[in-house]
Amino acid sequence: MSRFSAASFLLSAADPGQFPPDCGLEIAFAGRSNAGKSSAINAILARRGLARSGKTPGQTRLVNFFGVGPERRVVDLPGYGYARVPERERSQWGPLIERLRERASLAGLFLIVDARRGISESDLALIAWADPARRAIHVLLSKADKLTRREASAALREARHGLPAHASVQLFSAVDGTGVAEAQRAFTQLLDQREGK
Ligand code: GDP
Repeated sequence: MSRFSAASFLLSAADPGQFPPDCGLEIAFAGRSNAGKSSAINAILARRGLARSGKTPGQTRLVNFFGVGPERRVVDLPGYGYARVPERERSQWGPLIERLRERASLAGLFLIVDARRGISESDLALIAWADPARRAIHVLLSKADKLTRREASAALREARHGLPAHASVQLFSAVDGTGVAEAQRAFTQLLDQREGK
């Protein structure tokens, strides 16, 4: 899809005061560390190397914004689930995502979940954070290439069962391309809606 191939890095925010103005529409991407979030962003935007995975705690606590069109943004949230994250960083994370949640431009959440692990408590906490009654939640069961067909459909069934009714979920692989077009459609649909809806 060439539509978002003009995506570009906007800014990294360590503090809510650095967020871009709250206008237009944006989609947050989140997931446990190593779930495949950076790979998913790059596959959906068809931009290799745009989002980088930060494996080292300390480099990963920033919220990165990418511009994907006029007043359209991707918000790349730090990966969670790192036991080793120092307390100082952990205490920054709360206010940062609290302020993000207040943004009128935040239209939805793409949550990346390793298909082999399934949906965890911390994934569900993040969904609750995003307020699924008000915002679209789209779950990508990533690394689907690592599962057999049978395992993949079982993972999909189980995930559907564990998610709030409004959330949508699909299989995804940045490696073999499974579900990339479907994810791009969900992404585009969200960003094409009129604002204030
Ligand atoms: P992040 O930490 O959530 O941003 O995850 P990354 O995108 O950096 O991916 C973490 C690891 O999983 C890397 O070694 C990737 O190469 C690998 N990975 C990501 N997506 C896929 C996928 O769809 N299939 C497979 N097999 N590996 C993947």
